[in-house]
Amino acid sequence: MEYDSVSRGARAMFFMLTPNESSFEKVEDVPQYVQQATPFFVGLMVLELVVGFLKTGAPVITISDGITSLSAGMVSRLPLLLMRGCELSAYMHVWNHYRLVELPWDSAWTWWFTFLGVDFCYYWVHRFAHEVAVLWAAHQVHHSSEYYNLTTALRQSVTQPFTSWVFYLPMALAVPPSIFAVHIQLNLLYQFWIHTELIRDLGPLEWILNTPKHHRVHHGRNLYCIDKNYGGILIIWDRLFGTFAQEADKVVYGLVFPIKRFEILYVQLHYYLYLWKKSKTYKTISNKLSTFLNGPSWKPGKRRLGDHNDNPKVTGKEVPHNPRWSLPVQIYAVIHFLLVLKTYHDLFENKMILSQLTILGMTGYVLLTLTSLGFLIDQRPSSAVLELFRCVVMMTLLRYNYMKPLAPSLAVPTEAFVSLSLLYWALHSIASQLLGIKKKAN
Ligand SMILES: [Zn+2]
Ligand SMILES: [Zn+2]
Repeated sequence: MEYDSVSRGARAMFFMLTPNESSFEKVEDVPQYVQQATPFFVGLMVLELVVGFLKTGAPVITISDGITSLSAGMVSRLPLLLMRGCELSAYMHVWNHYRLVELPWDSAWTWWFTFLGVDFCYYWVHRFAHEVAVLWAAHQVHHSSEYYNLTTALRQSVTQPFTSWVFYLPMALAVPPSIFAVHIQLNLLYQFWIHTELIRDLGPLEWILNTPKHHRVHHGRNLYCIDKNYGGILIIWDRLFGTFAQEADKVVYGLVFPIKRFEILYVQLHYYLYLWKKSKTYKTISNKLSTFLNGPSWKPGKRRLGDHNDNPKVTGKEVPHNPRWSLPVQIYAVIHFLLVLKTYHDLFENKMILSQLTILGMTGYVLLTLTSLGFLIDQRPSSAVLELFRCVVMMTLLRYNYMKPLAPSLAVPTEAFVSLSLLYWALHSIASQLLGIKKKAN
């Protein structure tokens, strides 16, 4: 990368691009800002890890939680391999058929108007995602970490984009898709750096901008944090609409009822099942519907958002769920995670030249790998068998050259790790058998 594009990539992370360099006539010309941000994500996460370690003497990211957050980020983008994002497709349809005016694409006014419009719509996307249970079922993924660091930013929902596009449609009556496509990406990217505990206070900027301080409150499960600070880039919307809260007591992060699980599909989908079961406990149609359409804390006889005083009290002494697991398995999990990250990256780089079937197959493989790693972290009894199965799939893919065009450099280490996996599986089975015998003896 030349200096110019590095500088532009870095500035895109903080919404520091000028209208001049980020206005385009055609949607096809709009850069894939989010896709190109990967090196900056990694760089900032490493920086946070180092600075955090120097400041606190302990790692600010744990392996189990960090892998789960990054996996959620990967899963959330898998549908984009097979289709264009919902947001842009629906937007272009409205623009093509129903636009009322056509704001000039090359005007700074249009650019700033779109900036405000997208951020305003994001506020409502986000508020509805918290206040309507069936939308919360998607968005809770982002809140499911009990830690707060840059990896948490990437813990995204795979189902949320399938509903959030509706909220942006009014803009399609006037704003060209190419300008919208820039801002919808930059708005998301801005929200990366605010997921950190290392930046405490930014002075006067706290008045206007959404900052780490404000967004920490948003991720809290303390009573004063619930349903507060929905803003994307600007915090003024919360101040205007009465949802603003200043950081006060020590924030305890995560869901009101922490899931204490790292298995990736469970993290993504468990709340839908929970809602379904909750609705079945009610007899009337109105209560059943309210389960899905009112707030997640709603119960019959309560106001729309329920009573947050019913939630478990937060004392500030809560310790995040962090399972103890052996160092070799941790190293094994990290190495395999990095390998699948490479496969995932290559898949996105090559999606234009690969057949739909290959993409589908590889998507399945990525999902299988992330699921298996989640099983390992959760230490589920079936994890060894699933991991062995995954290794066999991986070997088959290698044998039939599915992975080689994607990552020639991956082949040798993968085969080496397949052998290691088998070794791990054998040791794991022996160890759990021994442990089982020991438990029985006790
Ligand atoms: Zn949220
Ligand atoms: Zn967040």
